[in-house]
Amino acid sequence: MYGLLPTSFITTYGLQLGSTLQAVVLTMALANRIYQERESRTRSREAELAALSAQRRAEQRVMDQAMRDPLTQLPNRACFELNASQKLHLRPGRRWAVCVARLDNLAAVTKTLGHHNSDRLLEVVSLRLHQIARDLPGIEPIGANDEDCLAVLEPSTFAYLMDAGTASANPRQMARSMEQLREPIDYLGMQVPLDCCIGVALFPDHGKDLNTLVRQAYVAQETPIAREKGQAYYDPARDPYSPERLTLVTELRRAIDENQLALWFQPKRCLKRNEIVGVEALIRWPDRQPAVFADQIIAVAEQSGLIRPLTRWVMEQALGARKVLLEAGLDLAVSINISPNNLRERDFPLFVQRLMTSHHQHRGRLILEVTETSMMQDPTNSMRTLRSLDHAGIPLAIDDFGSGYSSLSYIKQLPACEVKIDRSLITDLLSHTDDRIIVKTTIDMCHSLGYQVVAEGVEDEETTELLREMGCDMIQGYVLARPQPLADLIRQLRPEAQAFRS
Ligand code: C2E
Ligand code: MG
Ligand code: MG
Repeated sequence: MYGLLPTSFITTYGLQLGSTLQAVVLTMALANRIYQERESRTRSREAELAALSAQRRAEQRVMDQAMRDPLTQLPNRACFELNASQKLHLRPGRRWAVCVARLDNLAAVTKTLGHHNSDRLLEVVSLRLHQIARDLPGIEPIGANDEDCLAVLEPSTFAYLMDAGTASANPRQMARSMEQLREPIDYLGMQVPLDCCIGVALFPDHGKDLNTLVRQAYVAQETPIAREKGQAYYDPARDPYSPERLTLVTELRRAIDENQLALWFQPKRCLKRNEIVGVEALIRWPDRQPAVFADQIIAVAEQSGLIRPLTRWVMEQALGARKVLLEAGLDLAVSINISPNNLRERDFPLFVQRLMTSHHQHRGRLILEVTETSMMQDPTNSMRTLRSLDHAGIPLAIDDFGSGYSSLSYIKQLPACEVKIDRSLITDLLSHTDDRIIVKTTIDMCHSLGYQVVAEGVEDEETTELLREMGCDMIQGYVLARPQPLADLIRQLRPEAQAFRS
């Protein structure tokens, strides 16, 4: 414009070029900015996603931990309940077995070796149990993966779920697993036995929801059968915690008060003299529907404290029955069964002594039967009570001998006059050589200790003959008569007393 610079393309279009360049630079800067913003947004989104998945993983870990036992890492109770109940509801057409296995000796191990060792042992044991459970026929996974088939309910209590049909179709495999359970565990050079009791409740037979089935399996594993054989099925009739059982207690209390119970009698024959020498009184509840058997009545009475009035009622009735027998010309001894709980009552010997004083004509003719196993529950107290009964001149008999594991040194101290060999040893006497050897040895041993021997549950003449040859003193069983009301028994024993009315 002032002629200072020569005119050229640049001086002519400099302004436009500058503006264009500025626009290009600005556009590029804007594009870069947009790009960077987008980049940073993507990065922050990625970081957000990474944080989210880390949170998910942490949550999953917590969830997993919440479903596992911290010590053994096996599925825990919550996991078992969740998965097992899903299985029951998803496949209700199947028959399921809910099993609870409890280790009885862990408390003893803790006391011997301390908590630390018992925790380590529990880890080893749970590994062994898991291996055994995994090979069971019909076992179902109950955890996050297919390997999880054993759950921990409590520190020494485990649970598993089986298809009952498959399990019962493979008895050999089941028996093999039970054998494996009996093998002791090698721990710190010691052979620790597992002492495992298993309780089984069946779906839908025993219950329709998992909670009920687990409770029932718990009850089953506590029973003497589980302790004896290693495994027991739930039996509603023997469930001390069922609502029906509570009703039964109330009904039994009323039955004792209102004289609704009855005593039936089964004769006992002396093999040498070939005559009936006594009867055993057995409890019955005639009008109860559905029927309740003698051992169930006694179990309920023992659990509820009703055994005290019940035994007293039985004794009084038995004395009354003996009076009736005498009047019918039958001078027979009457045996009654007493429970181990009676032996623990401090005033029991006194009660019996007073009763015998007021019924002195029956002195020495009322025999008290106590089972071998019941005495072993509390040997010291049982011995004290039995001794004071013996001093009072009350004859005692050891019932169900051979069904338990009592020590010979204990048995030989008992002030008994009679030993009754358990039915389980007599039933197969003809076919089982082992039983014959045991019975013959028992008879000889009892004779040398000064006891009379009675064989229980004799059902046929051949067994009677065999027992006679073995030197058995007396027999009792269906071969003579089934337990029956007194009037019927008297009619049977004295056909000439047809006119007799009880
Ligand atoms: P227990 O004292 O050993 O009585 C014998 C049981 O075997 C009776 O069963 C009797 O009916 C049964 N029995 C007798 N002979 C035969 C036979 O040849 N074959 C078979 N298969 N069975 C036979 P029950 O009456 O059911 O009594 C069962 C148990 O209940 C008794 O066993 C006894 O331990 C207990 N019990 C019965 N009554 C009383 C009672 O008044 N008080 C107490 N504490 N216990 C009782
Ligand atoms: Mg008896
Ligand atoms: Mg018996």
